[in-house]
Amino acid sequence: MPLDFGPPPRARIATAIEAFFVQHRDRLIYVHAAMFVAFLALIVGPLAVGDASAFHVGPFANYVLWGLWFPLVLLSVIVTGRSWCGLLCPMGAAAEWGNRIGPQRPVPAWMRWEGMPIASFVVVTILGQTVGVRTHAEAAAQIFGGTMLLAIVVGFVYGRRRRAWCRHLCPIGLLLGIFSRLGAVEFRPVVRLPGGDAYTDKGVCPMMIDLPRKEESRHCIECFRCVNPGAKGGMTVVLRRPGAEVERIRNHHANPVEVWFLFLGTGIALGGFLWGILPLWQDLRAMAGEWAIGQGWYGVVRPGPGWLMSVHPERREVYLWLDFAMISGFMVAVMLATAAALSATTAAAAALAGRGGAGDGGFRQRFTELAYQYAPVAMVSLVVGLGGKLFIPLQLLAGAPAVGAAKGGLFLLGLVWSLWLGDRILRQQGVRPGLPRLLPLAPGALGSLVVAAGWWPAIFGL
Ligand code: SF4
Ligand code: SF4
Repeated sequence: MPLDFGPPPRARIATAIEAFFVQHRDRLIYVHAAMFVAFLALIVGPLAVGDASAFHVGPFANYVLWGLWFPLVLLSVIVTGRSWCGLLCPMGAAAEWGNRIGPQRPVPAWMRWEGMPIASFVVVTILGQTVGVRTHAEAAAQIFGGTMLLAIVVGFVYGRRRRAWCRHLCPIGLLLGIFSRLGAVEFRPVVRLPGGDAYTDKGVCPMMIDLPRKEESRHCIECFRCVNPGAKGGMTVVLRRPGAEVERIRNHHANPVEVWFLFLGTGIALGGFLWGILPLWQDLRAMAGEWAIGQGWYGVVRPGPGWLMSVHPERREVYLWLDFAMISGFMVAVMLATAAALSATTAAAAALAGRGGAGDGGFRQRFTELAYQYAPVAMVSLVVGLGGKLFIPLQLLAGAPAVGAAKGGLFLLGLVWSLWLGDRILRQQGVRPGLPRLLPLAPGALGSLVVAAGWWPAIFGL
């Protein structure tokens, strides 16, 4: 008779997590309320005390936002998926509070358009740069406070006990969604129905996931409302190897819109980082300014409104319309160039995979699936590039070489992980091992290197 050791440790941990959150899910409202107060303090505090505060409220709030919140939320998805969204985020919770007392209108078709989160991310990222969201407390209040207000209004008006804002409009929702596919936590239907992932405004899920058909982690915010241990239906928490969903992306609703978001989002974030450090941007700005004045367009050297660009004469920073146009134009150009480069490498990989024996599924499907291999390198780049303040304590403790080593190590990890995922995706596509698989891996690796090269100055400087 075989010995029974009970469920494996991973399953036991998942069961304990389920039990804990199901028992306490009604108390999440207190967590959300506390986070809401903390959010207001971070946004309003620096404005209330001003630049001259002896308590360094402004720099502290800035560090919490860009040195802790931004990089740690991104990194957390690898371990816990979108737990930030379901368990902690005050914006999503506020949208839902608004929904309870609002008219609960049906979510309109324009909001359900799949490109909406891409547009939202691009607009907010560009606006964030032109108003100086990473530098000025007023700009942080405008961007974060403005999105909070919008979230509440959208939540108030649309959806019936849903999070229309989180599903369709949040600028970082899809970003977290893509990377959550790498995460170690999955909410899996206890009984899965055929038909694949679907959208529904019925059932308990605030993210409008058709629960028994759920295949992908992208939209799941881990609110635990669908989990009822011991019940015959609903969802159960499963712990898996990080990256497992992307390795078998064919079974998890690979989506072309998500791929475009990955390409364009990586590019726009890179553009937002590069314009501030590249001498090339200064040269282009000077040339464009001379040319515009030569045309008699004197308006370009006038400052614009403070809600659209940084106008802080007291801090010796006043952007002109020229700066606004150059920053936006540069970011869009880098976005398009990055998307074009990644499309080219992915297309080459998909074509070579076809020749290497990939089974069913045409070029389009192979292209979409292979694009997911860039997720780790894109995520690490964002953490290292835009969340560089995370490393300030390490710099104070161990000096600049330690920071370079930590960033470089993270970067290398992202690159290797991307390569590994590329290999697994090709294997699932049926590409033969050996040379047939190495050939499509090469353009995939080149794509990862393109992303890495773009962020190189963030780690090692120019
Ligand atoms: S989708 Fe956006 S607003 Fe909603 S919970 Fe996540 S981060 Fe917060
Ligand atoms: S699938 Fe379950 S845990 Fe995920 S968002 Fe929907 S109800 Fe919440």
